[in-house]
Amino acid sequence: MYGLGILNGFLVTMKNFIKKPVTIQYPEERNPQHPRFRGEEFVWYEDRCTACASCAKYCPLGIIKIVTHPSGGKLPEGDAYAIDVFDIDIGRCMFCGLCVEACPYDALFMGSGFEESKYKRADLVIHADRLRAAEKHPSTWFRPQLEGRGYDPQSDAPVPWKEAGRESWPHHLPQRPGEPGADGADAPSSPAGH
Ligand code: SF4
Ligand code: SF4
Repeated sequence: MYGLGILNGFLVTMKNFIKKPVTIQYPEERNPQHPRFRGEEFVWYEDRCTACASCAKYCPLGIIKIVTHPSGGKLPEGDAYAIDVFDIDIGRCMFCGLCVEACPYDALFMGSGFEESKYKRADLVIHADRLRAAEKHPSTWFRPQLEGRGYDPQSDAPVPWKEAGRESWPHHLPQRPGEPGADGADAPSSPAGH
Protein backbone atom coordinates (compact mmCIF):
# COMPACT_ATOMS: atom_id res chain seq x y z
CA MET A 1 0.00 0.00 0.00
CA TYR A 2 2.75 2.42 0.96
CA GLY A 3 4.63 1.64 -2.26
CA LEU A 4 1.53 2.49 -4.34
CA GLY A 5 1.10 5.79 -2.51
CA ILE A 6 4.71 6.77 -3.13
CA LEU A 7 4.39 5.83 -6.79
CA ASN A 8 1.27 7.98 -7.13
CA GLY A 9 3.14 10.85 -5.49
CA PHE A 10 6.00 10.50 -7.97
CA LEU A 11 3.54 10.44 -10.87
CA VAL A 12 2.07 13.77 -9.73
CA THR A 13 5.60 15.18 -9.41
CA MET A 14 6.59 13.98 -12.88
CA LYS A 15 3.38 15.33 -14.42
CA ASN A 16 4.05 18.80 -13.03
CA PHE A 17 7.73 18.57 -13.94
CA ILE A 18 7.00 18.35 -17.65
CA LYS A 19 3.98 20.69 -17.64
CA LYS A 20 4.41 24.21 -19.10
CA PRO A 21 4.93 26.56 -16.13
CA VAL A 22 2.19 29.09 -15.41
CA THR A 23 4.60 31.45 -13.67
CA ILE A 24 6.77 33.93 -15.55
CA GLN A 25 10.11 35.57 -14.76
CA TYR A 26 8.88 39.04 -13.79
CA PRO A 27 10.15 41.72 -14.41
CA GLU A 28 11.99 40.31 -17.43
CA GLU A 29 8.66 38.96 -18.66
CA ARG A 30 5.22 40.46 -18.25
CA ASN A 31 1.79 38.95 -18.56
CA PRO A 32 -0.29 40.52 -21.31
CA GLN A 33 -3.13 42.70 -20.00
CA HIS A 34 -6.63 42.99 -21.38
CA PRO A 35 -7.29 46.39 -23.04
CA ARG A 36 -10.03 46.96 -20.42
CA PHE A 37 -7.61 46.37 -17.55
CA ARG A 38 -8.15 49.09 -14.94
CA GLY A 39 -4.60 50.25 -14.37
CA GLU A 40 -3.37 52.58 -11.77
CA GLU A 41 -1.91 55.66 -13.36
CA PHE A 42 -5.10 57.16 -14.81
CA VAL A 43 -5.23 59.14 -18.03
CA TRP A 44 -6.48 62.71 -17.71
CA TYR A 45 -7.21 64.93 -20.70
CA GLU A 46 -7.05 68.43 -19.34
CA ASP A 47 -8.28 69.86 -22.63
CA ARG A 48 -11.60 68.14 -22.06
CA CYS A 49 -11.77 68.78 -18.32
CA THR A 50 -13.93 71.63 -17.01
CA ALA A 51 -12.88 70.91 -13.41
CA CYS A 52 -16.50 70.18 -12.55
CA ALA A 53 -15.23 67.79 -9.84
CA SER A 54 -17.86 65.14 -10.60
CA CYS A 55 -15.09 62.54 -10.49
CA ALA A 56 -14.12 63.66 -6.98
CA LYS A 57 -17.72 63.71 -5.76
CA TYR A 58 -18.41 60.20 -7.02
CA CYS A 59 -15.22 58.67 -5.63
CA PRO A 60 -16.46 56.57 -2.69
CA LEU A 61 -13.14 56.92 -0.91
CA GLY A 62 -12.69 60.66 -1.35
CA ILE A 63 -9.19 60.36 -2.73
CA ILE A 64 -9.44 62.83 -5.62
CA LYS A 65 -8.56 66.36 -4.62
CA ILE A 66 -9.50 69.18 -6.97
CA VAL A 67 -8.92 72.87 -6.24
CA THR A 68 -10.08 75.40 -8.80
CA HIS A 69 -10.80 79.05 -9.37
CA PRO A 70 -12.98 80.76 -11.97
CA SER A 71 -10.79 81.30 -14.99
CA GLY A 72 -12.80 83.96 -16.79
CA GLY A 73 -10.91 82.96 -19.89
CA LYS A 74 -13.61 81.30 -21.96
CA LEU A 75 -16.65 83.37 -21.10
CA PRO A 76 -18.23 83.31 -24.58
CA GLU A 77 -18.23 79.52 -24.35
CA GLY A 78 -19.59 79.32 -20.82
CA ASP A 79 -16.20 79.15 -19.13
CA ALA A 80 -14.45 76.32 -17.29
CA TYR A 81 -12.71 76.45 -13.95
CA ALA A 82 -8.94 76.83 -13.91
CA ILE A 83 -7.27 73.96 -12.12
CA ASP A 84 -4.88 74.62 -9.23
CA VAL A 85 -4.79 71.06 -7.84
CA PHE A 86 -5.79 67.75 -9.37
CA ASP A 87 -4.45 64.92 -7.19
CA ILE A 88 -5.41 61.25 -7.13
CA ASP A 89 -4.17 59.20 -4.18
CA ILE A 90 -3.81 55.81 -5.82
CA GLY A 91 -2.36 54.36 -2.62
CA ARG A 92 -5.96 54.20 -1.38
CA CYS A 93 -7.67 53.62 -4.71
CA MET A 94 -9.73 50.44 -5.20
CA PHE A 95 -9.91 50.95 -8.99
CA CYS A 96 -13.68 50.78 -9.02
CA GLY A 97 -13.73 53.24 -11.93
CA LEU A 98 -16.68 55.25 -10.59
CA CYS A 99 -14.74 58.47 -11.16
CA VAL A 100 -14.34 57.55 -14.82
CA GLU A 101 -18.02 56.68 -15.11
CA ALA A 102 -18.96 59.99 -13.52
CA CYS A 103 -16.92 62.22 -15.81
CA PRO A 104 -19.41 63.93 -18.13
CA TYR A 105 -16.76 64.91 -20.68
CA ASP A 106 -14.70 61.74 -21.11
CA ALA A 107 -11.74 63.61 -19.65
CA LEU A 108 -10.71 60.85 -17.24
CA PHE A 109 -9.81 57.29 -18.20
CA MET A 110 -8.46 54.39 -16.22
CA GLY A 111 -4.78 53.72 -16.94
CA SER A 112 -3.19 50.57 -18.23
CA GLY A 113 -0.10 50.11 -16.06
CA PHE A 114 0.44 48.03 -12.94
CA GLU A 115 3.95 48.86 -11.74
CA GLU A 116 3.61 51.72 -9.32
CA SER A 117 5.50 50.45 -6.28
CA LYS A 118 6.99 53.19 -4.09
CA TYR A 119 8.84 53.30 -0.79
CA LYS A 120 6.54 55.93 0.71
CA ARG A 121 2.75 56.05 0.57
CA ALA A 122 2.89 59.80 -0.04
CA ASP A 123 4.65 59.14 -3.34
CA LEU A 124 1.59 57.28 -4.56
CA VAL A 125 -0.34 60.52 -4.95
CA ILE A 126 -0.47 61.40 -8.65
CA HIS A 127 -0.36 65.17 -9.09
CA ALA A 128 -1.73 67.23 -11.96
CA ASP A 129 1.69 67.86 -13.47
CA ARG A 130 2.39 64.17 -13.75
CA LEU A 131 -1.04 63.55 -15.21
CA ARG A 132 -0.42 66.33 -17.73
CA ALA A 133 2.98 65.01 -18.75
CA ALA A 134 2.15 61.31 -18.85
CA GLU A 135 1.95 59.40 -22.10
CA LYS A 136 -1.71 58.69 -22.69
CA HIS A 137 -2.33 54.97 -22.87
CA PRO A 138 -5.92 54.86 -21.65
CA SER A 139 -7.68 51.66 -20.71
CA THR A 140 -10.68 50.90 -22.90
CA TRP A 141 -12.72 50.16 -19.78
CA PHE A 142 -16.00 52.14 -19.89
CA ARG A 143 -14.79 53.80 -23.07
CA PRO A 144 -16.58 52.10 -25.99
CA GLN A 145 -15.19 54.66 -28.41
CA LEU A 146 -11.72 53.21 -27.83
CA GLU A 147 -12.82 49.62 -27.63
CA GLY A 148 -14.86 49.97 -30.82
CA ARG A 149 -11.78 50.79 -32.82
CA GLY A 150 -9.75 48.00 -31.24
CA TYR A 151 -7.35 50.20 -29.33
CA ASP A 152 -4.81 48.26 -27.27
CA PRO A 153 -3.14 50.43 -24.62
CA GLN A 154 -0.31 47.93 -24.22
CA SER A 155 0.91 48.03 -27.80
CA ASP A 156 -0.68 50.98 -29.61
CA ALA A 157 0.58 54.56 -29.74
CA PRO A 158 -0.54 57.11 -27.12
CA VAL A 159 -3.92 58.71 -27.77
CA PRO A 160 -4.04 62.53 -27.84
CA TRP A 161 -7.21 64.11 -26.50
CA LYS A 162 -8.66 64.96 -29.91
CA GLU A 163 -8.47 61.30 -30.87
CA ALA A 164 -9.79 59.89 -27.62
CA GLY A 165 -13.32 60.68 -28.79
CA ARG A 166 -16.52 60.72 -26.84
CA GLU A 167 -18.55 57.67 -26.01
CA SER A 168 -21.09 57.03 -28.75
CA TRP A 169 -23.94 56.03 -26.49
CA PRO A 170 -27.32 57.50 -27.44
CA HIS A 171 -27.56 59.98 -24.58
CA HIS A 172 -24.39 61.69 -25.85
CA LEU A 173 -25.30 61.81 -29.51
CA PRO A 174 -26.35 65.06 -31.15
CA GLN A 175 -30.06 65.02 -31.88
CA ARG A 176 -30.13 66.72 -35.27
CA PRO A 177 -29.20 64.65 -38.33
CA GLY A 178 -26.13 65.97 -40.10
CA GLU A 179 -24.31 67.06 -36.95
CA PRO A 180 -20.91 65.46 -36.35
CA GLY A 181 -21.45 62.14 -34.61
CA ALA A 182 -25.19 61.96 -35.31
CA ASP A 183 -24.65 58.76 -37.24
CA GLY A 184 -23.02 57.12 -34.23
CA ALA A 185 -19.45 57.84 -35.31
CA ASP A 186 -17.07 59.32 -32.80
CA ALA A 187 -16.78 63.02 -33.35
CA PRO A 188 -13.73 64.94 -32.20
CA SER A 189 -14.88 67.39 -29.55
CA SER A 190 -13.34 70.59 -28.37
CA PRO A 191 -13.20 72.09 -24.90
CA ALA A 192 -15.93 74.45 -26.04
CA GLY A 193 -18.10 71.69 -27.34
CA HIS A 194 -17.99 69.05 -24.65
S1 SF4 B 1 -12.03 64.77 -15.02
FE1 SF4 B 1 -14.17 64.89 -15.70
S2 SF4 B 1 -15.40 64.73 -13.83
FE2 SF4 B 1 -13.27 65.20 -13.20
S3 SF4 B 1 -13.24 67.43 -13.02
FE3 SF4 B 1 -12.57 66.94 -15.11
S4 SF4 B 1 -14.47 67.02 -16.38
FE4 SF4 B 1 -15.11 66.93 -14.21
S1 SF4 C 1 -11.19 54.29 -9.19
FE1 SF4 C 1 -12.73 54.39 -7.52
S2 SF4 C 1 -11.53 54.60 -5.64
FE2 SF4 C 1 -10.13 55.04 -7.35
S3 SF4 C 1 -10.18 57.28 -7.59
FE3 SF4 C 1 -11.73 56.44 -8.98
S4 SF4 C 1 -13.67 56.42 -7.81
FE4 SF4 C 1 -11.98 56.69 -6.34
